[in-house]
Amino acid sequence: MPTIFHRIMRRELPAEIVFEDEHVIAFRDIAPQAPVHVLFVPKEDFATLNDVPADRPEVIGRLALAAAAYARAQGFAEDGYRIVMNCNGDGGQTVYQIHLHLLAGASLGRFGT
Ligand code: C5P
Repeated sequence: MPTIFHRIMRRELPAEIVFEDEHVIAFRDIAPQAPVHVLFVPKEDFATLNDVPADRPEVIGRLALAAAAYARAQGFAEDGYRIVMNCNGDGGQTVYQIHLHLLAGASLGRFGT
């Protein structure tokens, strides 16, 4: 089932794309929760983290390393950032194509509920 993110990947919906390669696309979140809020999305379809097979760790690794490279390139890696992946209802997932949130640009504090 295509999601909003698949439509962004196909350029059917607008987004501010900040990075793209063969495996990953990254764009600014439409409702940023921090001064920097970028979503890193694999081009391969996985609805949730639960759907990524145990023998495919590179799917998640690519997202995390693309986020770290973006943080370095943008100059905030040393100040720090947070990466988050929400899974299913209790995790707060709303778009069912896996994605990694990169949040930065402010002191984010500790987790709340
Ligand atoms: O982890 P979760 O599934 O809740 O995250 C989905 C994210 O996608 C939200 O932060 C939402 O603001 C973002 N979004 C977006 N562009 C859209 C629709 C949703 O950046 N067109």
